Amino acid sequence: MAEFRSWRPGRPHAENRVRMGQGENIPPTKFFDNLTFIGSTYVGCFLVETSEGYVMLDNMCNKDAQYIEQSMIEAGADPADLKAILITHGHMDHFGNAGYFREKYGTKIYMSEIDAAWSKNPVSLPPNAPLSDLRQFDIDGYISDGEIFRLGNMWFECVWTPGHTPGCMSFIFPVWDEGRAHIATLWGGTGPVKGDRKALEDHIQSSYKFTEAFTARGADVAISTHPFVDNAAERLALCRRLADGVPNPFVMSPDALCRFQAMYTQIYKDELAAL
Ligand SMILES: [Zn+2]
Repeated sequence: MAEFRSWRPGRPHAENRVRMGQGENIPPTKFFDNLTFIGSTYVGCFLVETSEGYVMLDNMCNKDAQYIEQSMIEAGADPADLKAILITHGHMDHFGNAGYFREKYGTKIYMSEIDAAWSKNPVSLPPNAPLSDLRQFDIDGYISDGEIFRLGNMWFECVWTPGHTPGCMSFIFPVWDEGRAHIATLWGGTGPVKGDRKALEDHIQSSYKFTEAFTARGADVAISTHPFVDNAAERLALCRRLADGVPNPFVMSPDALCRFQAMYTQIYKDELAAL
């Protein structure tokens, strides 16, 4: 039998598939009963509905506050009902203008203690990034490993997954599709830290740890704040015109979710092997 060759293009972080900071806006898209994507093909955030207002996961780049606000309104959500923002990690394209919402609406901001410090340290900046990309706003609390963050009827299991950044957090939480319950995962930091042995080793261990945590929950959905890693733009486009009875393209089997997470693990292993 001929040797198997994958017909798929390269892994998502191959140079030709990432254009730092660039992207086309995606229309705000509700794709579960309680979950809406807001953002671009480069980076986005997730609006989660609870019985006591909204939680947002990540917050896009620091020039996007009005865009997020407008998108919430388009999605039928009052920005004044945004009660909390959970930040995966201390890079500007994830904590964005959380300070804007904190000041204007009293939204509470949460991130890990490690990345709260790290995001104020110039060592966290990508090459050539201005100092103004460091975190400028105060936060309201830390989220820690194994913590269950709750608002109203919703819960978010917070898992410390260092690697992409030292204090990166990933989340596991319930979503519903036409009333059917699923468990979603948000892998907090996708890209490998090239050339950093310790970070890559941490990233691999974190990926195993996260797999164990979401398997224990029976998770069957993966989302990412970087849509280029998982064809999210194309899948969201499908969700905007999904006919009754057609499966939600974000729902997979728990086994498929493990294989998807293994794709990330392999990226970090390959980078480590190249050192
Ligand atoms: Zn990052």
